[in-house]
Amino acid sequence: MSNTHICPTCDEEITLPEGTVAAELITCDECETMLEVVGGPDGLTLTEAPEVEEDWGE
Ligand SMILES: [Zn+2]
Repeated sequence: MSNTHICPTCDEEITLPEGTVAAELITCDECETMLEVVGGPDGLTLTEAPEVEEDWGE
């Protein structure tokens, strides 16, 4: 089982810390993009996290 993933923004390899679970947010060391860990049928994948500002509420 590999914890290595590719940053969707800069194609850098990112190794997820052991125990990382879906819905966690991590930051790419290379491009500093905020990435969201998404759980899927084949395991975890990374996607660019939506920018959350003051859209809390509804
Ligand atoms: Zn990156």
